[in-house]
Amino acid sequence: MSYTKPLPTPNKEDAPFWQAAREGKFVLPNCPDCGNIWFPPYLYCPRCLSPKRVFKEASGRAEVWGFIEMAQPYVKSFAPELPYIVALVQLEEGPIMFTNLVGIKNDEVKVGLKLQVCFDPVKDDFTLIKFKRRE
Ligand SMILES: [Zn+2]
Repeated sequence: MSYTKPLPTPNKEDAPFWQAAREGKFVLPNCPDCGNIWFPPYLYCPRCLSPKRVFKEASGRAEVWGFIEMAQPYVKSFAPELPYIVALVQLEEGPIMFTNLVGIKNDEVKVGLKLQVCFDPVKDDFTLIKFKRRE
């Protein structure tokens, strides 16, 4: 069955991030000038505006920073999964990102829950980053 949910369209800012995901790697932009690590992967370091970003593999460790339970089918292709959680997770490296959680019941999600990155190859040419419970 083909994947029907919306997917990001990689652009010059985030194409390296999505390419790494296809290869099973979770990378973040690092600044060689000031050491900052950020997400989303803007072209320039948001702390010092250096254009010399370098993508480096991240730990993949994170914890739930906040979340909501979606109860309405705002996007039709998500309707079969209602109610589902949209989580904001704080990465061990500092940045916060939106994501979906895998294998965790809605009523088990709480702020501070420890997570590990995982990869969901939803299409031949596209892999999504998601998070599962850290063992
Ligand atoms: Zn910097």
